[in-house]
Amino acid sequence: MKKNVLMKLDRITRTYQMGEVAVHALKETSLDILEGELLVVLGPSGSGKSTLLNIIGGMDSPSSGEIFFGKENLSNAGEQRLTRYRRQEVGFVFQFYNLIPDLTAKENVELAARLVENPLSVAQVLKEVGLEDRMDHFPSQLSGGEQQRVAIARAAVKRPRLLLCDEPTGALDQKIGQVVLGLLERINREQGSTVVIVTHNTPISSMAHRVIRMSSGTIAEIIENKNPLPAERIEW
Ligand code: ADP
Repeated sequence: MKKNVLMKLDRITRTYQMGEVAVHALKETSLDILEGELLVVLGPSGSGKSTLLNIIGGMDSPSSGEIFFGKENLSNAGEQRLTRYRRQEVGFVFQFYNLIPDLTAKENVELAARLVENPLSVAQVLKEVGLEDRMDHFPSQLSGGEQQRVAIARAAVKRPRLLLCDEPTGALDQKIGQVVLGLLERINREQGSTVVIVTHNTPISSMAHRVIRMSSGTIAEIIENKNPLPAERIEW
């Protein structure tokens, strides 16, 4: 079945001016992100992966080119509109979790739930990531894997159309990493969220529907994966 386009990037560039030198982090990059797909973005350090993810997530704006979310042109949206887009449509999962240290696991998730009109149940989401017994713990009382599971619950509770993950297993060992990837896979399958995972860890790409390979600020290759591998079978 053909999937609808959720997001369209049309000849996006992002240039950073560093004194006399212009750094071309993204060069005329175009991409259609499809509704409900699981995308893995691969590429060496400095190839533009984070810049691409930040632009998709409304945390940064392109220097030129256009970006559409559905029919809406986000490239000329004001800061207020971009904030609303980030809050309502996007969930983020980062390498180092970015939890608020003086809030418990439950409170971290509750804070996110308050940003949207129809959140999932906080207790239910924490249960689904296997943390029903740790809800009242602070981040410092949780392992890295547990903190990442809280971060995933915090993103998932909003039922985001887009779930953006920047090196989500970068600080975890393989066994815990597989659990984290399995949760992302489940959110993609059961909630229908479009999931974008940025990583330099090539084996993770075998769980993707499509793999984007970045090189020097452009998309060098897009590979369709007819038979994605279940997360628990990925090894690195
Ligand atoms: P990746 O995520 O693949 O490691 P990035 O998107 O972080 O790549 O970076 C792409 C290029 O843009 C790199 O050359 C990086 O140094 C540069 N860059 C990224 N962010 C900034 C910034 N805020 N200011 C200046 N240069 C930046």
